[in-house]
Order: sequence, then C-alpha cells, then structure tokens
Amino acid sequence: MSPGLVAPAWYSPNNPSDMDTLLRNAFVYTGDAAHTCFADGALLVSDGRLRWVGDAAQQPAAPGARVVDLGGRVVMPGLINTHTHGGLSLHRGCCDSGNLFQWAQTLAPHTGPLSLEDNRQGCYQAVLEMVRSGITTACDCTRYGAGLFAAVASEVGMRALGGALANSPSLRTSGRPNWPAALDETRQALAERAGDARCRFYLGAHSPYSCTPELLVEVKAAATALGLPFVIHAAESREEVDLVLQRHGRRPIEHLHQLGVLDARTILGHCVWLDGGELDLLAASGATVAHNPISNAKLASGVAPVEAMRTRGIPVGLGTDSMLSNNALNLFQEMKFAVLLQRAHRLDGHALSARDALAMATREGAQVLGWDADIGSLEAGKEADLVVLDLDHPLGLTPERVLSDLVFAAGPQHVQAVLVHGETIYEDGRFTRIDESAVRARIRQQGRQLSRPA
Ligand SMILES: [Zn+2]
Repeated sequence: MSPGLVAPAWYSPNNPSDMDTLLRNAFVYTGDAAHTCFADGALLVSDGRLRWVGDAAQQPAAPGARVVDLGGRVVMPGLINTHTHGGLSLHRGCCDSGNLFQWAQTLAPHTGPLSLEDNRQGCYQAVLEMVRSGITTACDCTRYGAGLFAAVASEVGMRALGGALANSPSLRTSGRPNWPAALDETRQALAERAGDARCRFYLGAHSPYSCTPELLVEVKAAATALGLPFVIHAAESREEVDLVLQRHGRRPIEHLHQLGVLDARTILGHCVWLDGGELDLLAASGATVAHNPISNAKLASGVAPVEAMRTRGIPVGLGTDSMLSNNALNLFQEMKFAVLLQRAHRLDGHALSARDALAMATREGAQVLGWDADIGSLEAGKEADLVVLDLDHPLGLTPERVLSDLVFAAGPQHVQAVLVHGETIYEDGRFTRIDESAVRARIRQQGRQLSRPA
C-alpha cells in the first residue's frame, strides 16, 4: 500500500446483492470510447451492474447504499484476455525455444497425453494468476474438456468464454480425435451452466493447417446452429501460410473466406501474416482478432499488423496465449509489449499509444468476444467488472499519468481488488470465494504426478 493511503475497510466476501454500493473517492478511468476519466469519481453499483458513473459533484442521491471510500485509488475496467489455454499451465517453462511448428513438436509428448485432471488443475493455476493481475474475463481454448475452464473460472468468480478447438487427427502430430466429442462436451457445458451469467461458450477449430476444409465447415455450421461464436487460430506463422498455400493454393484468411467460415461471430487468434487482400476480407467479414504480442515474439512468429487492422475497423483484443508460449498470464505486460513491439518493428515512436493498448485490453477485447453490451468499460448499464489499483504517482494523478502508468508501469503488484458483477472476488492478495492454499496444494500434487518419470 502506498504511504498516505488509508486501507479501506470495505472487504466483503458476500456483497449483499439487495443493497446498492457507492464506490467513492476514486480516480475512475472509464475505458469508454473517449477514454473519459473522473479524477474525483464515484460509481453506483446496483444488482451487480453500474447504475451511475461520474464526477462526485454530480453524484445522484443513493439512500441506503453501502458507501465504500476508495481513498483516492484508481478504478479501471476489468481486463479481458481474448486468447489463452489455461489447461496447459502446469507445463510452464518446459519448452522455451523454437519457432512455432518446431516448438509444438517438442511439446507434443508433454501435452498430448494430458488428463482431464491435469487440464482442470492447469485451469486453476491460470485463473488464479489472471485474477491476480486484474483479468476479469478470458477466452480459453483446449482440446478436451470444453467446460473445464468455465467451471473453474466461475468457481473463483471470473467470467469465461470457454470451449474446445477441434482438429483433424490426420493432420496433427499427436492426440486423439476430439470431434464430435468437443460438440458433445460443449452441449453438456451449455446445459450445466445455463443459469450462470459468468460463463459463455463457443465452438472452435484449431487452425487452417490442422483441420480439413470439411471439418472447418462442419464446426462453423454447428456453431452457427447453436448460436455460438467460432474460434480458430489463423495466419500465426509464415510456415503456416506456406503450408496452406501449398495444400489449398490460397493463403489462410482467403482459405477461411472461401470456406464461408468468416463472419462477425468468428474470433481469430494471432493473424500475424496478412496481406492487403486478407486485411480487406477480414474487415468486410466483421471477424475479430485476438492479438498475442508476447507469444508471437517468443515463438518468432512475427509482428501482427495491428494498426492496419484497427484502421480498417477490425476489432482487435489482446491475448496472453498459454503459459507455454508466454509464460505469464498478465495483460499489463501484454499492453506494454504490444506498444513496444510495434514501435521497435516499425521504427516509429508513435506507433500505438497507451490509449490504444488500454482499449484493446478492455473495450475492444469485449467487442472481440461479442460481450461488449455487458463488459469492457465502466459505463452505466454495464456489469460492475472492475479493478482497484494502488497507483500513487509522485506528481499526483492526472488522466495522462494514470493512462501512462496503467500501460507502461503497472502490474499485479498494484492490483488491490478485483470485482466481477459487483462482487469482490480478490482483495489484498486474498481470493474471497476459494481457499487458495488448498487449491495450490492440489495443483502441486497434480504437477508432481506429471513430472514423475514413467
Ligand atoms: Zn492459442
């Protein structure tokens, strides 16, 4: 805690849902389209949603509301991780070198035989790390166990867009067939989580190079029939472009377009290697992109044309990818690196701004996941998904300094509290819904079994 700030006695494991809460004395970064800030701001939360956000001087009367004094802390929208693989988290650091294809082959013996319990414990590992760094929503990908990540996220209190990516066994180096099993798992997860507003699901396919055209069309058709988004990795590396060109005579995005699987409900991971025609196809289709700058750099995949995509109106969010390719699940790092990578690559100190990075990590990330009616910014009517940060700039807090700090200086160490649907799920290093030490003991136990020689 910064000196001079008084610890607020506001911790409440069971925020009474029948009582309004007024969060006052906060520096509020709303994350709306104009990046509006309120230096002396307040937020009124009713039934888990924001009823009012604004300057304290204009605060409406809120008789009977529980009042929480944030002691001048910064409040920002919950961060949105548009692409990750929680189930792989137990293997963090087991393969830190190699270009994408080579790396994937080195990993296959480790990740091919993962059990559902390995996956579940990996999801716990991922969710704990994400919440700690202010992430309130994540889109997760797995091969088996489409409902696992969402179940774990919901238990901890976070939101999830969960699901599995189908692949064609003939085109993969390892693994069992997972289609139509992924469809059955997703249907089951949808039924089990029907009343859980924190969980949504998609149907996905791994990539244009690991799926046959027939499978891509079949999975997209099933997603459309169920009214679900369709998730796929695409144009991640130059090798992928060469492979798809060789097999189909078309580049990856052209291939997906020809197959009719690109539309406003398609979420593409990566999109590093796009030519002008593919950028136009993407923009015309309404498809959205999860940009993973750290993973793309670590696996030597390249630098995605982020500004070209955004200029064309393609929604771009930020993703961490997995603990194998990153290895942290920290969107503060991702925001900073997204900016630095573009600047270093283009030799342009104006390429991407702090505002751009914040938009991608919040409002535009929500758009990417099709969840922007409810989350992504702190505006009246939206969910009260927010992060309270203990930022204490020596010169005092101004909008420019706060936005700069959030992108270039902040990290999990500044996260004091995380709220989802108005509920405190993490505060002062403590998770409110789960016993973290018991969860960690189970993760370690699973890790020990995995690392035992066969
Ligand atoms: Zn991925």
